[in-house]
Formats: sequence, structure tokens, C-alpha cells
Amino acid sequence: MPGAHHQHTLGDGLVPLINTLQDIFSQAGVDALGGELELPQIAVVGSQSSGKSSVLEALVGRDFLPRGPDICTRRPLVLQLVHTPYSHASHHERAPAEWGEFLHRPGEVFTDFEAIRGEIEAETERGSGSNKGVSEKQIRLKICSPHVLTMTLVDLPGITRVPVGDQPADIEKQIREMILSYIKRPSCLILAVTPGNSDLANSDALTLSRLVDEEGKRTIGVITKLDIMDRGTDALAYIRNEVVPLRLGYVGVVNRCQQDIAQRRSIREARASEAEFFRHHPSYAEVASHCGTEALGWTVSRILGEHIAELLPALQDKLAARKNDAARELASLGDGRPDDPAGQAAMVLEKLHGYAASFTKAVAGKNEDLNTTALEGGARIHYVLQDIFVKGLESLDPTSAMSEEDIRTAIQNSAGTKAVLLLPEEPFEMLVKQAIKKMSDPCQKCARLVHDELARIARQLISAQDMQRYPRLAQSVEDATRDFLAEGLAPAETMIASLVDCQLAHINTSHPEFVGGSKALRLAQAEVGKRRGGVPAGQENEDASEDSFAGAKSDAAGAKSLRRRALGDASAETNKKSDLYSHEDGVVTLREPPGKLQASEPSTDEEMLQVIVTRILLGSYYSISRGVLTDTVPKAVMHFLVNSIARGLQQHLIQSLYHPNVVNSLLTEHPETEAKRVAAKAKYSALSAAAATVASMPSELAGAGAGRR
Ligand code: GDP
Ligand code: MG
Repeated sequence: MPGAHHQHTLGDGLVPLINTLQDIFSQAGVDALGGELELPQIAVVGSQSSGKSSVLEALVGRDFLPRGPDICTRRPLVLQLVHTPYSHASHHERAPAEWGEFLHRPGEVFTDFEAIRGEIEAETERGSGSNKGVSEKQIRLKICSPHVLTMTLVDLPGITRVPVGDQPADIEKQIREMILSYIKRPSCLILAVTPGNSDLANSDALTLSRLVDEEGKRTIGVITKLDIMDRGTDALAYIRNEVVPLRLGYVGVVNRCQQDIAQRRSIREARASEAEFFRHHPSYAEVASHCGTEALGWTVSRILGEHIAELLPALQDKLAARKNDAARELASLGDGRPDDPAGQAAMVLEKLHGYAASFTKAVAGKNEDLNTTALEGGARIHYVLQDIFVKGLESLDPTSAMSEEDIRTAIQNSAGTKAVLLLPEEPFEMLVKQAIKKMSDPCQKCARLVHDELARIARQLISAQDMQRYPRLAQSVEDATRDFLAEGLAPAETMIASLVDCQLAHINTSHPEFVGGSKALRLAQAEVGKRRGGVPAGQENEDASEDSFAGAKSDAAGAKSLRRRALGDASAETNKKSDLYSHEDGVVTLREPPGKLQASEPSTDEEMLQVIVTRILLGSYYSISRGVLTDTVPKAVMHFLVNSIARGLQQHLIQSLYHPNVVNSLLTEHPETEAKRVAAKAKYSALSAAAATVASMPSELAGAGAGRR
């Protein structure tokens, strides 16, 4: 329909605005138009032949609706206007700029609006018979055009009172209910059409609309047929809103008469003569500015504009929320690699610094987001040192595991060919060194456990920090940290070995906490006395602990086994005297000693005393040594391994990673990250622009909706 877009049609001023909104939302990737930016439906109501179809058609600016003096609209016509921008392709390929399509004839494109009218008529008959029958079955017509706003108009049958033709007796009730079902929706804008030459107070249109829109918030009064009023009468009082006041007021229009229709007078001509009518009619001079189809178009547009304005805050909120999402995403993706070498260098430095600082913090327990459900960082290291190492070592007492037989063997061996003296010094030193050596492994293990904890913290930090975006940097930092931790572990292990060696180097029997020979002797004598005196079993433990020092406690077990043997419960491997010599015919024959020779059973109190004294001395001295190691080993681990992180990790990282020609490659990202960032940036700026545009929209709306005035 060439040239058609020069004339004003419904919502002309809003078309660009809605386009902008739609563009904004599609660019921003926000589906805000799924229902939210929907314009209200517009329905026409009124008596039969009041001019409803004519008004609708004039508003759309296209000839396509069946109109006539008879009942023409017998089924609801739902007219979906779809704003379809011109595309270059459609020009070149001579595709239609405007076309219609019926729901009941899918895929069929109507470019001739006369044909559309013909199809509406034919379909009306198909649905409701040829003899004036009415049906509530909708006819749905979609009109795509660059000149329309996307919205829905509904043309409804008019109200009749007397059934004609095939119409049922309750035709009036049926039609009223059908109309009400459309206009009762709060989103429906009602055009209440009344001819100027009928009584407004009895208007069917107003009666119906008042049923659903009591406050008149969505009803526009339309007075038609001003051109064919009785000579000497006019509808001025109606239009001035004096007879039946409506909040949105009245618009007077002049549509084409039946003769115009028969002569196929164009809408444009009709508009011109309508303007002419109001310009020259003496009665309407004062209301001329709000009369005519164009004024009606503006009024409807203003209401639609107000509707859009009401939607704007929600759209703005939605945009703002999306913008925040995008900002968060962008922040999580980081800034990416700077282009210049200096910027890259600075970034690597910053990352290394940040990593080293958070490592130090994690170890010191000053991490911001402290976990409340599990121990972390420094707390885990403390756990390793105190709960695993110290408690583990305290539970270790190799002296209590030594049997009395072991001790006796050591004593007899050290005495050699001589008889054993009362205080067996050498066997004591030898046995205590044996016991101390047993602490070496757990002490070394302690350092390794802490090392592993530190490595674990490192891995956690590397995967948690935004370093993961730079896989090479992450890998290099992990490697460098591993080297650094290994460099700390080595001196810690050496130190621990030395600490144990120191304990072995000199057995300091004058240590103030050491039980000492004379006291040990007294304790042992008491013990021997008790054993010889036959203390009832079970009381022994308590008695032993009464002796009140750590080393003696383990004695009880030994004493028990000793007594068991004394009572004849000797083990099988005890040397039998009869194997060593034999008597035959008064001659004693000596045999060779067996390969493995056991120490002899203690036969005298003195021998028993020696064993018990030695055990007491062993226990006492061992616990002193153990106390020293449980104290110094964690200190060595802290000094060489843990505290070295604060002292030197950052420097180590810089030394090993910060080389001018490496920096660039360290910051290489996953190609995916790069792409994600570009997309997120685009999204963010689209949303920012959208938010700004939507924010400025109310003033534009005022311009577009308020009309020419
Ligand atoms: P509807 O039944 O309410 O849809 O009314 P139509 O639009 O079909 O119009 C009924 C008849 O009145 C048609 O013949 C129109 O040409 C005529 N008509 C409608 N409006 C006017 C008008 O403003 N002036 C004149 N002279 N005739 C009109
Ligand atoms: Mg009609």
C-alpha cells in the first residue's frame, strides 16, 4: 500500500519508541518482551451499525473490515497487529511490506486488503451461517506492517435487541456476554462507540463499559456519524463531556458513509474530508482540536504511552538486575592480560604478591573467609604439631616395651667376665640411646606432615584465587611453591636429625629432673621388698604409681612378668641346667653352650634390684629426652618450614617467575575465558546503554503520547 504510511495511524509516535525498547532488550539479551511489554488490547463496543468497525479501521488506517448498515460483524475479529520493520531484502525481492495472515489459513499471505475483507466475510459465513447468525468463535487475523504498533484490537458484533434471520431469541444476552468476556479484562482499553444521532444516556456502549469499568479508567467515548445528525442538532454537549461524563472524555469522528464505501473512497480522502468537516462546522469549532480520527489516534496513543510508562520501572529494575549480574560476571572474569609489557609485569607482580600474602595469612589463621565447619590453614598445622606429633610421641615409650629379660641381658653383657656392680651405668646408657633413637622417625615424619599440609594450602589457594584463569601462571606458581617448600623441608629435617643426635651425644645424668642413682636404688629396694613379701596381685599397679614418677609406672608390668616367672611360669627358651652338663657314673660331663644363650634368671635380690633400678633410670631419662624433642622439633619445623613462607616465599616466587620474557606467556588465558570476557563486556555495555535509554524514556513518552498539542 504505497504512501500509506504518510498518514497518521494508531500509535504512530509510539512505534519508534517501542522499537527502541525492543532493540534494547534484544541487544541486551533480555527477554523482557515475553509478556511484559505487551500493550493493552483495544476493543470496540456499541450497538449494531453504530460505526465500530469503521472506527477501528480508521484507527488502523487500512480498509479491510466489512462494514455496512446490516449486522456485518457477527464473529469477534481479533486483529493482531505486528510491527514488522522494513528489511532491505523485502525491498529487493519485492516481498510485501504489509500483509495479513489468517489463523484459519496458515501460511497464506494476503497482500490485497480487499481480499482480506472478502476472506473475513467468507469466514464469518462459514462460522455463523449466511443468515445473520452470530457466533463467539473468533476470527484471528494477523497484520504485519512497519506502520503499526504490536498490539491486539478486537472488533465485536454490535448489540441488537430484536432477533432477525437465524438469530436465537436470546440474541441480545448472547452478544452482551460475548462482549463482556472481552472487555472485562483490566488490560482491555474500551472504545465505547455511540452515534451522535442517538441518545447518549441510553447508549449500549456506555451501559456495557460501565459494568466492567466503573471508574471509567479505560473507557474512551467515541461519537460517530456527526455528519448525518438532524439539521439543527449537534453533539457538542456529548463531546464536551457534559451529558455522561467519562474520565477519559469523548472524541467525535466522521467515518465514511455507505456511499463512500460503495465508491471505494480511500481512507486518506475520508480523513481529509473529516478534517474539512470539523474545520467548517460552526458547532464544533471549540472542540475541533479533540475531534477526528487523528485525535482519537493520539488519545489512544497517549493511553498506551501511559501504560508503557507504568511498565518502565519494572523494566528498569529488570535491566538493573541484569546489569549487576553482568558486572559480577565481568568481575569474576577479571581484567585479562594488559597489552603493554609494563602492565603485564605489574599484573604478574601483583598476583605473586597477592598469593604470597594470602598464603602467609592462611598459615597465620588470618584468612578473611574462615571456614567454620573444618580446620584450615594454620589451625591444621597446629593440629599436626600438637595433636598428632606431640601426643603421638608422648604415647611412645620404648623403655616400657623392653622386657626385664632384655634389660638383664644388657646388664650381663656389659659386665662381661666381671660380676655385675650395683649400679649398671653402661647398660643404662646403651638402652636409653636405643630408646631415644626410636623417636627419630616420628620426629622426621612430623616435618613431612607439616610440609604436606603447606602444599595442600598452596593448592587450595591456587585453585581458589583468580589465578586459575591463567593456567600457566597457576602451574608455575605451584611448581615454584613446591620447590620452596622442599627447600624449607631439607634444613628442617637436618635440624631434627641433629636434635635427636644431640640427645644421643651426651647422657646427662645430672639433669635436675633425672631421678638419680640413689633415689632409684631406694625405689627399687622398696619394690623388691614388696615382691619378696608377696603383695597380692592387682594391688601392684597402685603401689607402683604411688612411687610417683613416670618411669616407675611401667615397672609394674615388668614386675608382674618377673614374678610370674618366679612362680614357675618360666618360658620354654629358658636354659635348662640339665642341657649344660650331665652326671654319669659319678662323672660330670660338661656340654658346649647353646648357640643362643639367654641371660640367667635373677636368683638373688641384688640381681632383681639391678634390673628394677635400670628400668627406673631408663624411664626417667627417656621422658626427659622426649620432653626436649616434643618441644624443639615443632620449633624447628616452624622456623625452617612454616615461618619461612612469610620470610621468603614472595621473594622466591619473584626470583623464579618474574623474568621479562616469561611474564607475557604466564598471563596466557584459556581462549574460552577471553571469549567469555568479550561477551560479558558487550553485554554489560549493552545493558548500561539500555538502562540509560529506559531512564530517559518517560520524557520521550510524554512527547510521543501527548499528541500534537
Ligand atoms: P458497526 O456495525 O458498528 O461495525 O458499524 P459499521 O462500521 O459497519 O457501520 C455501519 C454503517 O454506518 C456503515 O454503512 C457505515 O458506512 C456507516 N457509518 C459509520 N460511521 C459513519 C459516520 O461517521 N458517518 C456516516 N455518514 N456514516 C457512517
Ligand atoms: Mg461492525
